[in-house]
This record gives sequence, C-alpha cells and structure tokens, in this order.
Amino acid sequence: SRSGWALNRKELHIHQSIGKGEFGDVKIGDYRDTKVAVKCIKHDATAQAFIAEASVMTYVSTSPTSHFVMAICEVLVDVLPYCVVSVLVYCVITVVFLSCRQLRHKNLVQLIGVIVEEKGSLYIVSEFMAKGCLVDYLRSRGRTVLGGDSLLKFSLDVCEAMEYLEANNFVHRDLAARNVLVSDDNVAKVSDFGLTKEASSNQDTAKLPIKWTSPEALREKKFSTKSDVWSYGVLLWEIYSFGRVPYPRIPLKDVVPRVEKGYRMEAPDGCPEVVYEVMKQCWTLDPVVRPSFRVLREKLRNILDKEL
Ligand code: ADP
Repeated sequence: SRSGWALNRKELHIHQSIGKGEFGDVKIGDYRDTKVAVKCIKHDATAQAFIAEASVMTYVSTSPTSHFVMAICEVLVDVLPYCVVSVLVYCVITVVFLSCRQLRHKNLVQLIGVIVEEKGSLYIVSEFMAKGCLVDYLRSRGRTVLGGDSLLKFSLDVCEAMEYLEANNFVHRDLAARNVLVSDDNVAKVSDFGLTKEASSNQDTAKLPIKWTSPEALREKKFSTKSDVWSYGVLLWEIYSFGRVPYPRIPLKDVVPRVEKGYRMEAPDGCPEVVYEVMKQCWTLDPVVRPSFRVLREKLRNILDKEL
C-alpha cells in the first residue's frame, strides 16, 4: 500500500490545460478512471536539482508525512531563493496538513493526492470541478439565468464549508469567489486553502487581497476564523452582484482608510435586505463581535427556509 497521499505517476494521465494558476497551469487529467484537476507547480532549473535527489524521492514514497515535510524543507532551504522556497514549502505543508487532518466536506474541493516527479515538478491532484470558478460562473450566467435561490444556495454551500473549517480551527486566509469552484451539479466548493498567494505575501503585503482582507488582518496580520468571516461578507457581495469586483470605483489605496472610517459597500442591485444585513454583520470592525460561521449558516438557512 502507498503511504499517505503520494500518488503513482503512472496512473495519472494529464491532458489539456483548463486554467492558469499563479504558479503553474491547472490541467484536466485522469486518475484511475476518474476525471481530476491537476495543479502543476513549476519551478526553475535550480529547483529541479533537489527533487531529483533519490533520497527525497524515497522519503516521499516510503516514510510518514512528517518526514516528507522535513526532508523537503531541509533540501529546499539550501537550494532555492527564498520566495520559491516559501511557496513550495507552503504548498507541501498545506497538502500534508490537509491530509493529516483528513479535512473532508461536501463543500470543500477534495484533495486526491500529490506527485513529486523526478524531473522536479510538483503535481497537486484534486477533484475535478466542471463549471470552473464561481466568479466566472456568476459573470457568464448573470441575473437572467441565476435566480435568488441559486445565489442563496451558493452562499450556503460556502458557509457550510467554512463552518467545517472553523470547527477544525483551519483559517483559509484567501476566501473569495475566485477561490470557490462549481461542480457539474452546481455545488459550490471552497478550494485553494491559502495555497499560493498567502505564501508570497509573507514578505510582500502588496500581494494581500486587500479588498477581501479584514482590517485587523491587514493592520496586524491577525488572521483568524473571524477574518475569514469578513472575507465571506465580501464573497456574499460578489455572489449577489454576479461577480463584480468589490468596492467599484474606489481606488485601491482608498479602500482601507475608508473602511476603517466606517464606509461599507452598498447592497448590490436586487439583493434582499436580509442578505445585506448578513454582509454588514460580517463587516463588523471588531472581530470579537463579528458572527461565527455557525451563526451565519443558521441565519442563511432561515432565509432559505422562509423563501421556499
Ligand atoms: P492559483 O490559486 O494558483 O492562482 P487556481 O486554483 O485559482 O490557481 O486555478 C486557476 C484556474 O484553474 C481556476 O480559476 C479554475 O478555472 C481552474 N481550476 C482550478 N482548480 C480546478 C478544479 N479542481 N477543477 C476544475 N478547474 C479548476
């Protein structure tokens, strides 16, 4: 039996590209007759040297995951420039963390496993989400196709995933409609568990998704489930505005000062008042007072039940 989440490269067939990620292409694939998405993490020639190391490869395939992480980190730190290290280490740690913690939920994009190739590429294999990312889905269908019930259903899907992460003390840090994917049967699932952008933002605050990040996270780097709740409010706004970019017409540099002075986005056109109330609660300045995902899920559930 294979240890942990290391997959057999021979069983994975990679086909055409379906998307561009920050650190490489996302491709469609087959793994043991199941359609999968394969995130191919690229890196430069120096980086390739290390994974080619036979010792690392044996770690990957034979030892417990904790050794795997340590082995990768040790070699990486010597060989790679810091930025590449942080990204790769972060990816690996996230993947291992997810697999150790066995995070599984109907509204989380399921990780299937990872492959570290001798040539030096890292593949992250996950459940295939046929309808792509939520923000594109909303933009392309728009209000003529999507009714209020679909919007509420997407909101609830994401909220349930976040309630599960909250219960497991997992902070996402990059919750936004671009990181939610839609399955063939229209279920919204949260992906990208802070996999990429966050890693590079350690050294470069300019890379933080300012319009989605809570004031305390921007100011003091205090990321918590409550800062995810803030982002969730922005995501609700994106859903109800069919994929508009938040804070339209406000220059990026003015967003934070205005929010700290109490400015909040208006309700999107046609957004029910009850849903807008939920958004505003997510944007409570004091994270302690901000509702939890459990409370939010109950509120949304009530709204859904009343509408039907
Ligand atoms: P990154 O976070 O590295 O920028 P993403 O995870 O956002 O990359 O992936 C880029 C694009 O690839 C997404 O917008 C989406 O269209 C596609 N994609 C990513 N993961 C999947 C998946 N599991 N199933 C289907 N398409 C996916």
